[in-house]
Amino acid sequence: MGTTYTVKVISPQLNDQRLFEIRQAIESELEIVDSKMSTYRADSELSRFNESRATEPFTVSRETFEVFQRAQEISSKTGGAFDITVGPLVNAWGFGPGAEAPQSPGEDDLAEIRRHVGWRKIELDPAAVTIRKLEPEVECDLSAIAKGYAADRVSSALSKLGLSDHMVEIGGDVRTSGRNQQGIPWQIAVERPEEGKRALHRLVALQDAALATSGDYRNFYEQDGVRYSHTIDPSTGSPVRHRLASVSVMDALCVVADGYATALMVLGESEGYNLAVEQNLAALFLVRDADGTFIEKTTPAFDARFGRE
Ligand code: FAD
Repeated sequence: MGTTYTVKVISPQLNDQRLFEIRQAIESELEIVDSKMSTYRADSELSRFNESRATEPFTVSRETFEVFQRAQEISSKTGGAFDITVGPLVNAWGFGPGAEAPQSPGEDDLAEIRRHVGWRKIELDPAAVTIRKLEPEVECDLSAIAKGYAADRVSSALSKLGLSDHMVEIGGDVRTSGRNQQGIPWQIAVERPEEGKRALHRLVALQDAALATSGDYRNFYEQDGVRYSHTIDPSTGSPVRHRLASVSVMDALCVVADGYATALMVLGESEGYNLAVEQNLAALFLVRDADGTFIEKTTPAFDARFGRE
């Protein structure tokens, strides 16, 4: 998935055979998600859907369908701030597969691409397990949500192997189960959103829960003094531009936390915060201040779970 992962498992008996079994289970789940939902692989289910210009129902695997359903639900709950049809915009702004250099699309190109963007241009049929484009040019990008889904799947696979104490991290998205090696909840770091550095902002104690973060500090470029990040605001068709540096969301499921983290990143420090409070999301916002420091804003649901610092 173009990133790294870490899995920690607590078990008294981990011989070579058992480790082999665990490693195989993890790799098989990652391959399921990558082979179906990657826009970086021409042969994935998603790439074939994107490539097709048909508006007839397209049969997909249950896994891909589930991620589409989660995505559409988050789109509907966030007024379209989360929108998997932004794929062509992500590419036009120089992110995504095949991106080589920073680029800004011209106004005409942007207007043309935006005509085919909108989460309502996709229709799902749960009974038939099909997805359908309402316009031939619509293309989807699951990068903001499928890593979280993969973390959930790896976690379930480990539980099925009888390993109930584990932590799965894929590209910064974390799903935990049970307790760590000290017999306490997993201690997960929320990073300070600084480029090129790995600094701790604070630790949160997670047990049977997930934490996902979206930010503008890893995947971005600067042009003429303007920072362009890979998070696209579907209402403007352009990368978000505000003081919000990162959002971390806690949920029972990593797929949900992952999707909401991106949605709140789109909405920004005020609108995103208000929506998170309204929907009782446990979220931590880090806002870049003029002097380069960060202001923390947490929702009541986050404070109830982790306390205030
Ligand atoms: P997040 O905030 O979680 O997601 C940001 C991404 O979501 C953007 O890059 C964009 O693609 C999309 N997005 C932007 N705006 C919106 C919006 N408003 N609504 C919804 N989505 C939006 N990268 C590689 O370099 N090589 C690979 O081979 C590769 N394979 C991948 C396979 C899979 C199955 C997945 C899920 C991702 C893959 N990636 C690959 C992508 C890479 O891991 C991404 O950088 C990552 O998924 C983005 O995650 P994030 O946590 O950085 O940001």
